[in-house]
Amino acid sequence: MKCTFLGHSTLLLQSGVDAVLTDPLLTPRIMLKKRATPPGLALKDLPRLTAITISHAHTDHLHLPSLALLPRDCLLIVPSGVGRFVRRLGFSEVRELAWGDSVTAGAFMITAIPVNHVRGRFFPWQDTGVNSYVLADAAHAFFAAGDIDFGPSPEMAQLADRFVLSAAALPVGGMREVSYYERRRGKKGVHIDPRTAWELFLQTGARMMVPIHWGVVRMAGTPVREPVEAVLEAARAHQMADRVRVLDPGEAWEL
Ligand SMILES: [Zn+2]
Repeated sequence: MKCTFLGHSTLLLQSGVDAVLTDPLLTPRIMLKKRATPPGLALKDLPRLTAITISHAHTDHLHLPSLALLPRDCLLIVPSGVGRFVRRLGFSEVRELAWGDSVTAGAFMITAIPVNHVRGRFFPWQDTGVNSYVLADAAHAFFAAGDIDFGPSPEMAQLADRFVLSAAALPVGGMREVSYYERRRGKKGVHIDPRTAWELFLQTGARMMVPIHWGVVRMAGTPVREPVEAVLEAARAHQMADRVRVLDPGEAWEL
């Protein structure tokens, strides 16, 4: 399996001729703001997609202008209650996956995993599901978390019981400066800080961590790489820096 980071929660996973794109965020501007780094791959360089996964309905993950840029001849996988937002886009097939559901997409078996993140599209009371996914081929299982919030995440330890994960892609904040998230450690709130991401990674039992949810939304005057440097620092404190595979936007990694 090969993993290419395109920025934010967008990953391109390839196995043989099959390719899955997660949470595509590919436009030059996001919510009117210029992105901090360009998409890791130009649209013309994307392979033919077998499937696209959407983790939840927030606009940085279910980004309709980005989906509109992609060919529609593939399977679009969304959480429960999210199909209504994408049906009119004309994808070959739209599948809503509830927690625990699996679907085969070429060489990939894709399983929806519970994750602790606020629901809704624009408001938390909207009834839309929130998934993370394990994408497995014959050799590897790759966990793509999408978004996680502060609070209990028992699902991370449960992953270790169920899968032998080659890698876990976990969000490291990235919407605000690291100190903002650090101040909220141990409290409730949307998104997690890099150290919490590192702790959750250890619970997953995965061999390698890939930091995601960074590199696109410009933070308040802080370096774009600030959250990944903070993850590396947490890993170094455990003498485990070699377990973090930082992929800069556009960088690919053969698992
Ligand atoms: Zn997000």
